[in-house]
Amino acid sequence: MSDVEHRAGAGGTQPVEAAGPPFAECVLCREPTEYPESHKGVTLCPVCEWQEAQRTACSG
Ligand SMILES: [Zn+2]
Repeated sequence: MSDVEHRAGAGGTQPVEAAGPPFAECVLCREPTEYPESHKGVTLCPVCEWQEAQRTACSG
């Protein structure tokens, strides 16, 4: 009869935005980083990481 399956969205489970392990937030802009939450130390997203690299590169 109905070949259309139910789609999640109407009062069901919330859709998962990103698959995979939870990633730590960037400490500067709170964007998801490439590091897992179990990562020790400061976690920076690729953008902030690049900016930090530029900054540290300039300071002797
Ligand atoms: Zn960032």
